[in-house]
Amino acid sequence: MILSDQQIGILGGGQLGTFLTIAAKQMGYRVSVWDPDIGAPAHAWADHSIQTHFDHPESLKQFIQENAVITYEWENIPVSLVASIEAEKPVRPGSTVLNRLQNRIQEKGFLSEGGFPVTPYLPVLDPDQLVAAAESLGFPLICKTATAGYDGIGQWRLLNIEAVTDLRRKLKPRKRGWILEKVANFSKELSVIVARGVDGEVVTYPVSENIHENGILRLSKIPAEISADLSERIATLGKAVITALEGVGLFCIELFLLENDALLINEIAPRPHNSGHATMDSCDISQYAQQVRALCNLPLMPPRLLSPAVMLNVLGDEIKALRNESILKALLSLPGIHLYDYRKQDIKGRRKMGHITLTGSDPIQLSAQALQVQDLLKKS
Ligand code: ATP
Ligand code: MG
Repeated sequence: MILSDQQIGILGGGQLGTFLTIAAKQMGYRVSVWDPDIGAPAHAWADHSIQTHFDHPESLKQFIQENAVITYEWENIPVSLVASIEAEKPVRPGSTVLNRLQNRIQEKGFLSEGGFPVTPYLPVLDPDQLVAAAESLGFPLICKTATAGYDGIGQWRLLNIEAVTDLRRKLKPRKRGWILEKVANFSKELSVIVARGVDGEVVTYPVSENIHENGILRLSKIPAEISADLSERIATLGKAVITALEGVGLFCIELFLLENDALLINEIAPRPHNSGHATMDSCDISQYAQQVRALCNLPLMPPRLLSPAVMLNVLGDEIKALRNESILKALLSLPGIHLYDYRKQDIKGRRKMGHITLTGSDPIQLSAQALQVQDLLKKS
C-alpha cells in the first residue's frame, strides 16, 4: 500500500488532473503534476508542479524519484514516457493498457477479439484505402483519426460516397492512420465508471446517460433512465472489459444503447471521465477519491448513489455567466446547485471551462432546473 506520507505523480494537469489532485490531497498525499502547458489548472493545486516538455531528462529523473506511483489524466501522453517511468515506479494503468487504448484501431481490435460488442469498423492506414473501406461498410460512417482525437476533434461524418472522395482529397498521410466506423443508430449514450485494484478487485458506478452536442459532452444524468436489468448488464460488461484489459486504476466505458436494448462499446478511457464529474456531488465516493484508492493499492469502496444528479458542461464563453454577478446570483438561487470554474487561462471556442452539477430527489425537477441553467448560461 502507498500511504499518505508519499507523493502521487500525475501526467497532465487539466480539470481531471485537478480534481484528482484535490482528492489525493484531502487524503493527505502530496501531489506532483507534470504538464508542459504552464496554464494547466492543476499546477495551482499541486505540491510540486513541473512545466517542462515531456522529453526533458532532468524532469523525468526527478518525477520518477519523488513519486511512489504515477498516473495520467489523458490518454495522449507518449507511451514511451510511461514505459520509461514504469521501468522504475508503478504507473497505473500501465503502458500496455495505454498503448492499446490510445489508438482507436488497437482499442477496437482488443474489444472485438475479446468478444465485446463494437460497431462495424475498418482500419484505414493509407488515404488510398478510404473509398474501398467505405464501400464495404456502407453508410452512414464516421472517419476518426486513429490517435490523438478528443471532444470529437479529428472526426468526419460521411453520408455518401461524394463525402468520402471529398475527404480522401483532404487527408494527408498520417503515421497511425484512421478508423472508419459505421454510425450506430443509438437510442441513448451511456457510460460507466469502473475502478480495478492491484489485486483485481473491481467496483462500478451507477450508469450515466450522456447527451453530446457537436461531438462534445453537453449534459450527463446519473442514474441513467434505464431498467435495473440493463444497469446490471452494463456493470457486468464493464467489469469483464476492464478485467480482460488487466487494467489497474480508474476507467470509463462509453456505450451506445440500441433500440433492441443491445449495447455497443464506443471507447474506453483509462482515466476519470467528464461524465463522472457528477459523482463528486451525488455519490458517497467520487471517481477521483476512488482513483486514489486504486492507485495506492487501498481497498476500493463500492460507491453508493446519494442523490440523482444532472451535470452540465460549461463551454467556451458560457464561463462568463459564472463570473457575472447577476447571473451567478440567479444560478446560486437554484436548489442543489454546485458550480465549478476550472480557471483555465484562455477561453477558446467550445473548450470545457467548468461544469455545473444539480442534485435533487426528483428527476423531473432536475431536468427542469437543467433547462434553467442552460438558459442562464446563454446569457453570458
Ligand atoms: P470524447 O473525448 O468526448 O470521448 P472523442 O473525440 O474521443 O470524444 P468519440 O467518443 O469517439 O470521440 O466520439 C464523440 C461522440 O461522437 C460520441 O460520444 C458519439 O456521440 C458520436 N459518435 C462517435 N462514434 C460514433 C459512432 N460510431 N456512431 C454514432 N455516434 C458516434
Ligand atoms: Mg468519447
